Amino acid sequence: MVISNFEDNYRHKGLRRKLVEEIRSKGIRSEAVLKAIDEVPRHWFLDPAFLEFAYQDKPFPIGCDQTISQPYTVAFQTELLDVKPFQKVLEIGTGSGYQACILSKLGARVFSIERQKKLYDRTKDFLQKAGFRGIKIFYGDGYQGLPAYAPFDRILITAAAPEIPTALLEQLKPGGKMVLPLGKPGLQTMTLVVKKEDGSILTEQHGAFVFVPMLPDKANGN
Ligand code: SAH
Repeated sequence: MVISNFEDNYRHKGLRRKLVEEIRSKGIRSEAVLKAIDEVPRHWFLDPAFLEFAYQDKPFPIGCDQTISQPYTVAFQTELLDVKPFQKVLEIGTGSGYQACILSKLGARVFSIERQKKLYDRTKDFLQKAGFRGIKIFYGDGYQGLPAYAPFDRILITAAAPEIPTALLEQLKPGGKMVLPLGKPGLQTMTLVVKKEDGSILTEQHGAFVFVPMLPDKANGN
């Protein structure tokens, strides 16, 4: 991961513009989401040796057996989440911090939880140095959410959840939305959960995706 060199030159910007057009051609319609992808230098989130991979529409390893999601998948989840400026958004699975930065570019106040201490430490340090604002990250178990900061307008899970976590459903505002890849390891269904004003729940299915699993508890105990 680049710590000292936050360069974003014409070549990076050109590669990013191509990526945005590729994602648009795959069906992403939201101009706000496409603009956010265009604005966040994805190469900062990968080791500098892998620059050529940063602007391919593919997931990439970030250490600790985890991956930064494919840009199309980030755009798809973000579009489905329907984020408005100033909303409080909870993300489960900070990973590299890329998705959190996309959410903050949309004007959200982002809270993000990571269960791997090493990733948490690295990403916290990186976000500070890179100067991304409006993102608070937490080392913890996403299944528990963040009761002290609830309720949230939006909740985004970026790991495969075997079921809709009940604590997260409780921390969602009436009128709020949650997006998660729901299902067993290997194949999940992108699911939109809408909590209506009367507290009842609607779910919608939005196609097949593959994510790393959402695991219980923190990875390193304590
Ligand atoms: N959103 C990330 C990619 C996520 S990969 C990005 O933009 O880079 C999924 C992440 O979820 C991994 O970092 C993994 O450690 C984390 N994770 C898995 N289960 C979790 C849980 N219960 N609570 C918090 N994070 C979890």
